[in-house]
Order: sequence, then structure tokens, then C-alpha cells
Amino acid sequence: MKIFNTRQELKSYLTAQKERNKTIGLVPTMGALHQGHLSLIKKAKRKNDVVVVSIFVNPTQFNKKEDLINYPKTIKNDTKLLESVSCDVLFFPSVKEIYEDHISSEKFDFDGLEHLMEGKFRQGHFDGVGTIVKTLFEIVIPNHAYFGQKDFQQLQIIKKMVKKHRLNVKIKGCAIFREEDGLAMSSRNTRLSKEQRAAAPFIYKILRKVRKKFATESTDRITKWVANQLKKHPFLSLEYFTIAEEKSLETVKKRESNKKNRAFIAVFAGEVRLIDNIRL
Ligand code: AMP
Repeated sequence: MKIFNTRQELKSYLTAQKERNKTIGLVPTMGALHQGHLSLIKKAKRKNDVVVVSIFVNPTQFNKKEDLINYPKTIKNDTKLLESVSCDVLFFPSVKEIYEDHISSEKFDFDGLEHLMEGKFRQGHFDGVGTIVKTLFEIVIPNHAYFGQKDFQQLQIIKKMVKKHRLNVKIKGCAIFREEDGLAMSSRNTRLSKEQRAAAPFIYKILRKVRKKFATESTDRITKWVANQLKKHPFLSLEYFTIAEEKSLETVKKRESNKKNRAFIAVFAGEVRLIDNIRL
């Protein structure tokens, strides 16, 4: 696996690959890699000649300093995992390499998608995400880029950015990869205490029950039920729960059979924020 720390090195390597008509797949990550990340990389390997994985803990998408500081960093293990799935290129730039001396984000208009759910609770988050993903697209110029449905809103926002800015890249959404007990894999899971980790699968249990209830109960009633379930919980507290239409991400009041709906949840286990979602 080739490892590049600078834009220039990466660009010149990829230019040579493109001259040989190789297709490029990009998988942007923040590291602390797990099987969820690897599932994206494996999918990218099947469709592209060269797979580039970026590891960059992007400061502009964090609205809480402590969350940025405490974000797990495991580059040695990450490198091993990347080699185990035959990743071709790791791009591992410094903050200075990406932002030079101005750590700030561009302002984006994602037609309102950025103000809902995650956007409501993490001010400026999607400007940060848009900034880093657009920068990575400019450096790598990939044919395909891979994003997990774990961050479903992010996936829809990237699709929106590509459409609005007419970027020449195909966005591929990838299914949520879970632990055996149902907890969605996340780099943040390593920060959970023993008790919190034992409690966390409750989140997916709730989502599965929501999926059942959605056949017969109103979204209002379901939303109240979820809030009640978490009110009683000793280790988890609810930040938001919503049932929304997949494209607009607008809250669904009534079920419409021609629309695709999804339930979205954000929960705190102590200081650790966990998100998950399920197709209804
Ligand atoms: P992150 O390193 O958390 O920024 O994630 C990098 C990419 O991996 C994003 O597109 C995530 O949506 C995706 N991802 C993270 N966890 C999972 C998971 N459990 N299943 C599928 N994709 C995931």
C-alpha cells in the first residue's frame, strides 16, 4: 500500500494512474477503522482499479472541542487493517496540509437538508463535511466515492452537493455494518464504558420495534413511545428521534406508500454520542 501525506504526492501518483486509464475509488474516513469502514473499502475494490482511503480527523466538522480532542486515533492499527483488505493508497494528511493556516469551512446551501436532524444539534457540522469532502474530491478526482448509510443524512447531503456543483463523481451508499448484538459499528464505540457498551444495543432494538410499529401506529405515537423508552434508561439519553422521508429528510406525519421512510435516532451514552437509523 502506498502512503501519501501531501496533496502533491497523491495527485502525481493518481495522474499517472489515470493516464493508464485506471479507475479511482475514494473512501473518506476519520480513521479508528473497523469492519464498517472495511465493508466500504471492499465494495470500492470490486469496482475500481485503484482504491484511495483518506484518514483525516476533520476539525471543522466538530462542534465540540472535547469530541475532536477525544476522537480515537489508531493509525498503526488502521494501516494494518487497510493492508489486510489490499487497499491501494492511504492518504493521511496533516491539518495544515488540508487547511494551511485557515481552519475554517466554506458555507454550503444543501437546500435545507443541512438544518435538520444532525444539523440542528451540530451547528456548522455539514459545512465542515462539505468542505473536506469537496477538497478530497478536488485532490483525488475519483470516479466513485463511498459513504455509509450509518451517516444517512451525510450521504444525502453529499449527493446533493455533487448534483448542485455538477461534480463528476458517482456516490455509492453502503449498508450499515453492525456488531453481532446489533450495535452499529462506530469509531466512537471504543469510548464506551463496559456498562455503556452493554446498554448500547438497546438503540437498534428500539429501531427494530419502531419498524414493526410503523405498520399500524401513527408517527406521533411512535415518537412519544421512543422518548419514554429512553427516559427510563439508566445509561442512555435521547437527543432526537424522528421518522423522515429519505430524500427530503422532512419529518413524516402520515405514512404514504409511495415514499421511502427511515427512522433516525441520536443518543448519548455519557459523553459519547451515538447515531443510528433504519429503513421502515
Ligand atoms: P467516519 O470515519 O466515521 O467518518 O466514517 C467514514 C465512512 O464510513 C462514512 O461514510 C461512514 O458513514 C462510514 N461508516 C462508519 N461506520 C459505518 C458502519 N457501521 N457501517 C457502514 N458504514 C459506516
